[in-house]
Amino acid sequence: MKTALITGVTGQDGSYLADFLVGKGYRVIGMLRRLSLENYGRIEHLADRMELAQGDLLDPTSLETILREYMPDEVYNLAAMSFVPTSWNQPVLTGEFTGLGVTRVLEAIRIVKPDARFYQASSSEMFGSIPETPQNESTRFSPRSPYGVAKVYGHYITVNYRESYGIFACSGILFNHESPRRGLEFFPRKVTDGVARIKLGLSNELRLGNLDARRDWGYAGDYVRAMWLMLQQPEPGDFVIATGESHSGREFVDTAFRHVGLDPAEYVRFDPQLLRPADVDHLVGDASRAKATLGWEPEAGFEELVRLMVDADVERLTRVAAQPGTASIPAV
Ligand code: GDP
Repeated sequence: MKTALITGVTGQDGSYLADFLVGKGYRVIGMLRRLSLENYGRIEHLADRMELAQGDLLDPTSLETILREYMPDEVYNLAAMSFVPTSWNQPVLTGEFTGLGVTRVLEAIRIVKPDARFYQASSSEMFGSIPETPQNESTRFSPRSPYGVAKVYGHYITVNYRESYGIFACSGILFNHESPRRGLEFFPRKVTDGVARIKLGLSNELRLGNLDARRDWGYAGDYVRAMWLMLQQPEPGDFVIATGESHSGREFVDTAFRHVGLDPAEYVRFDPQLLRPADVDHLVGDASRAKATLGWEPEAGFEELVRLMVDADVERLTRVAAQPGTASIPAV
């Protein structure tokens, strides 16, 4: 039985990857930070099928201790400060977690378990304002936020440990990927949650910022499969993971409202407070390398993704609203 360590296991990708690896018969160790408020919601259903270990990307000793205790065959570094707008408010912390945190994990691997295979969660935000479309593994990085800058550091340190120490280190350059488990602060989930609330009469408006930016939106469940495939290859490498299709925020909004038979013009309000100091206008990925080498292709298309997210939010909010004594509907 193989052992996998997942940092960031309480997040969207961590929980889907844990589902996937448990299904493959792995012993799964989820690393989490001690928080005053627990956030096990996304992994509750796995409680008796995986183990949890307390550690923190800011604390190298905790990483070495976990590696010594579990001696994992595979390490997936999914922990990060991952929300772009927050990276302008907390740029230094973003650099610590999202950038230097990668080095701390790689150092722990180098010292304790140098034959462990390592996956780094890199991001299409690293491409930023680049005019070249679609973007592939050779496209120049031009990040537009402290988050994107920190991810570029994480990407290059992963490549560097592969080249310097021969560590089996892979960087997955994943384009935006969504699901019903996505945090409510991200655009797609904010939209599907908002549409569901309006449909159920729990709200009558949805405030949004820039709807012209285009993203290549895929389904997170498909994307964690690509992470695992990268670590099963004979050689380590870097791979773009994307659908190859881009859509504007406006198209996402229209598709979501249309799915429940409502007109977005009646409910969507522009809120300039939600504009960013700099935005990324157009991301669309070319995943042909992943297709050729990993045999990976996304299964869910754009319309299907939007519909499944709206349906999940309608179902969740209907269930919560039906409970007696529900004065206000909690966020998640
Ligand atoms: P990102 O691509 O990692 O920044 O993912 P997000 O889902 O946070 O944002 C995607 C796009 O939606 C960006 O261009 C945002 O500027 C745009 N956007 C428009 N309104 C909103 C909003 O209310 N919240 C968020 N998070 N993004 C918004």
